[in-house]
Amino acid sequence: MNKYQDPERKDWVIGIALLVIYVLAISLGAVCLLPEYWWGWLLIVFGGMLYLVLRQTKNYACRCRKCGHEFEISFLVNLLAPHGVDKEGSWEWVRCPACEKRTKSTVIRIVKTKS
Ligand SMILES: [Zn+2]
Repeated sequence: MNKYQDPERKDWVIGIALLVIYVLAISLGAVCLLPEYWWGWLLIVFGGMLYLVLRQTKNYACRCRKCGHEFEISFLVNLLAPHGVDKEGSWEWVRCPACEKRTKSTVIRIVKTKS
């Protein structure tokens, strides 16, 4: 079973850096590829998004702000759920499996344990 912990500074730095690279790649791609190579640009947009969400699904879980239950979410939920950041950290708007409330859940890091 996985353990969880609050994200560290490193998580923020890497997360923000990846987002910046993604936005830069999209902007640069738009300048260089559009309109002739629109499919190449779409590949960057969707490929990048897929990678970011997959990475998020593998490395991060959620903690319900109502009852404190910690749970992992699927790729699809991760892709579709609204995300945001407030003073308690970054959150996702997902349904908690314990109290069954749809609420903001704090994003926490999955600590890999050797099995
Ligand atoms: Zn809950």
